[in-house]
Amino acid sequence: MKNILSALVVAVSLSAPLYAQQDSAMLSKIYHESFYNGQAYDNLRYLTKEIGHRIAGSPKAEEAVLWSKSLMEKLSFDKVYLQDVDVRHWDRGEAERAVVVGTNEKLNVLALGGSVATPAEGIEAEVLEVELLSDLRKHGEEVYGKIVFVNKPWEESLVETDVAYGLNSGQRSRGPVEVAKLGGIAYLFRSLSSSAIDDYPHTGGTRYVEGIDSIPALAISAVGGNRLSDILKENPKTRLFLKNTSSWKGIVHSHNVIAEWRGTEKPDEIITIGGHIDSWDVGEGAHDNGTGTMGTLDAIRTLMQLGYRPRHTIRLVFYMNEENGVNGSLKYGEIAKEKNEKIIAAIESDLGGFAPRGFDIKASAEHVAWIQQQWKPLFEEKFWVSRFLKGSPGVDSGVWGRHFPNTVMFNFRSDPHRYFDLHHTAKDVFEAVDRRELQSGVAAIASLLYLVDQQIDKLQ
Ligand SMILES: [Zn+2]
Repeated sequence: MKNILSALVVAVSLSAPLYAQQDSAMLSKIYHESFYNGQAYDNLRYLTKEIGHRIAGSPKAEEAVLWSKSLMEKLSFDKVYLQDVDVRHWDRGEAERAVVVGTNEKLNVLALGGSVATPAEGIEAEVLEVELLSDLRKHGEEVYGKIVFVNKPWEESLVETDVAYGLNSGQRSRGPVEVAKLGGIAYLFRSLSSSAIDDYPHTGGTRYVEGIDSIPALAISAVGGNRLSDILKENPKTRLFLKNTSSWKGIVHSHNVIAEWRGTEKPDEIITIGGHIDSWDVGEGAHDNGTGTMGTLDAIRTLMQLGYRPRHTIRLVFYMNEENGVNGSLKYGEIAKEKNEKIIAAIESDLGGFAPRGFDIKASAEHVAWIQQQWKPLFEEKFWVSRFLKGSPGVDSGVWGRHFPNTVMFNFRSDPHRYFDLHHTAKDVFEAVDRRELQSGVAAIASLLYLVDQQIDKLQ
């Protein structure tokens, strides 16, 4: 008995490293393929330079859909198709203007996504500056007839810029409603930029509520915000001129782009991977989210190129309209739920294509601990990828995941230092992406996809 037991112990202790050795060898092949033959960077060049920014409902968004579909059709997927998604199309109109009355000093602004226009002649009014929307109540009637300027600086001490973003982003979406309730006539919001020396305004979604006046809502650059604050300290009666011509254009018929690579052992069990294909209408949507779409596609291409045969069905999804309504992920979830699909895991990339750091994982603490023990060592020393922490899924996975509470979800994390310097700005262009960093991220995602496909059953 004792001998059998010790023989078993030896067998287990020998087989575990052997398993790990095979995985380690596979990861090395993946990284080699991605660095030498990766196509994410070249595809990103086409998406950003030939197509450009692609807000949902625009002709460019549809061009990106059809081009993405043709890219997928060039690979050996079993099925490539479009999933119908209706989106509301918002159009920015002419370049926005913000001018200090009297001195003619211009400040850099962008309308927030979804904003209504100012009257054709623009708005001219005094400005009330606060740091928090909740401070507005203290000002009471003072708000009436004013432009309200919410100027809360970025929490620069946080390396986790995603958390810093979350601290302030609620004021971007709630601002117009809170200001209009008190009779304010326009909303000016300090851009969600991680850099106080950034003079680019950052756009992003905002919203209105039925029954409360819709007032124009614009983002001012961090530099512009600091400047305006100084001007107001000198003369609190300073008047500001604002003009924008943006508007909602109605419902447009659009699509998610989907490709399936059929599983050889458990074809009915699905691993969903992807990111959103739409972008804001400034810059080129390079890091947000050209790198996420082109990166996840190239991760699959890498495995195909290495002759891999997936055990489960791998489904690549490019979601439409993450930025301004999450219609694509809502639709994806609705249909998957209707079909009673078994989605066992999800991988999303939508936090930039900088040097890869790891993955946030939506799973039980026990499963996360197992992943840290089993998978993290495969990445850490050789590939500098070491973040495997319990955390939130990507936005799109989170939306459809409401129907799939047990799906294990991985949110790809690239280095967070610079993402919110260019997020939703004219700076988010192809040139801001480094090929080596991008392809390293592709390899990390492909490696994770391989491990999930091979070993996810151990987590169930
Ligand atoms: Zn995004």
